[in-house]
Amino acid sequence: MPYDRFPAFARLSHLTRQRIALGALVFILGLGLQSGTVAAVDPLPVVAAVETVAVPNDGDAADDPAIWVHPTNPALSLIIGTDKKGGLAVYDLAGRELQYLPDGDMNNVDLRPGFPLGGQSVALVTASNRTDDSMAVYLVNPVTRRLEPAAARTIAIGASYGACMYRSPVSGKFYYFGNSEQGVVEQWELFHTGTGKVDAVKVREFDVGSQTEGCVADDELGQLYIGEEAVGIWKYGAEPGAGTTRTKVDSTGSSGYLTKDVEGLTIFYADNGSGYLIASSQGSDSFVVYRREGTNPYVATFQIVAGNGIDAVTQTDGIDVSSANLGPVFPQGVFVAQDGRNDGCNQNFKLVSWQAIAAVLGQGQPGRATARRSPEHMPGADPAADALLERVYFPLIRGAGC
Ligand code: CA
Ligand code: CA
Ligand code: CA
Ligand code: CA
Repeated sequence: MPYDRFPAFARLSHLTRQRIALGALVFILGLGLQSGTVAAVDPLPVVAAVETVAVPNDGDAADDPAIWVHPTNPALSLIIGTDKKGGLAVYDLAGRELQYLPDGDMNNVDLRPGFPLGGQSVALVTASNRTDDSMAVYLVNPVTRRLEPAAARTIAIGASYGACMYRSPVSGKFYYFGNSEQGVVEQWELFHTGTGKVDAVKVREFDVGSQTEGCVADDELGQLYIGEEAVGIWKYGAEPGAGTTRTKVDSTGSSGYLTKDVEGLTIFYADNGSGYLIASSQGSDSFVVYRREGTNPYVATFQIVAGNGIDAVTQTDGIDVSSANLGPVFPQGVFVAQDGRNDGCNQNFKLVSWQAIAAVLGQGQPGRATARRSPEHMPGADPAADALLERVYFPLIRGAGC
């Protein structure tokens, strides 16, 4: 076999190569010829630069990342990721785990710098804790690069599924949006108790219609985007008095660019109110990019394919993006995505340099992406094949690097 065409493969031991070959054979024999799905439009391919350590819990456990930008040395920035079966993990930009907080079933996480805590300005992290249906609150210690608990009490909330934060450009106040599998959205105002802790009070509640999760607020334009998982993306006003007026950004199904479920949403901030709104289109293993401004016109669809020794990203839940210069690997920022299938290991998060995405954005052809067939796309499509992968294929390649 001409291994020289595949240097990474050639570096593996003979036994490992045999295992991979055997795994591939089992995969082909076991799955047979699945009918191919022809993509209406091939998503633009990008590759990850870094992947994080896997979360400690197996199955569908990792869910949503948030990026903390270090105030003076951006290369020391952090990725905070949820493990919805046990807690929150903190990673550095090389993907190493710095901290794990086993504080409950954290589903979604978000953060905002600049929260006034007494005389201090702190980065506030919030997460939806489904263990006790509460809002978890932490601050980032910039010296230790660790999270410290900051909630004044157990802040019970009614909607503890999706979550995101908002800092109002009108009032300067900080808010937490929590939403539920029933489609209820709660807006909570966060405030300092005066004793170094953070508390919250509910200021708005409305009903989107059906299951929601991914959300993101635009801190400059005062907007709140919410994914109604089977339906599409809605844009509401983010101020507590904005009511229930909404516009539809995009739809799932043949009339839009999304394939249900709509999962994570995030905003890439560029100058003068420009930039991008990005959505995780879980059913097509891809990410749909819209203009941030105006009526959010469609820009392109991309997917994270295997490369740099890192497996592809599929079945993504949460995402986050930062346009800050985070050092030599991420000079134009970083895009982070949960990976629903981390090649034989527990789930993790993949980090893509924004310049890799920027390089392909202009090449997009308008169209709806359809998932391609690959081992990564099989889970869910065929339960018997999925069971075979879990039982035979992944144990074979486990240990071959993941
Ligand atoms: Ca997941
Ligand atoms: Ca979901
Ligand atoms: Ca999710
Ligand atoms: Ca993967």
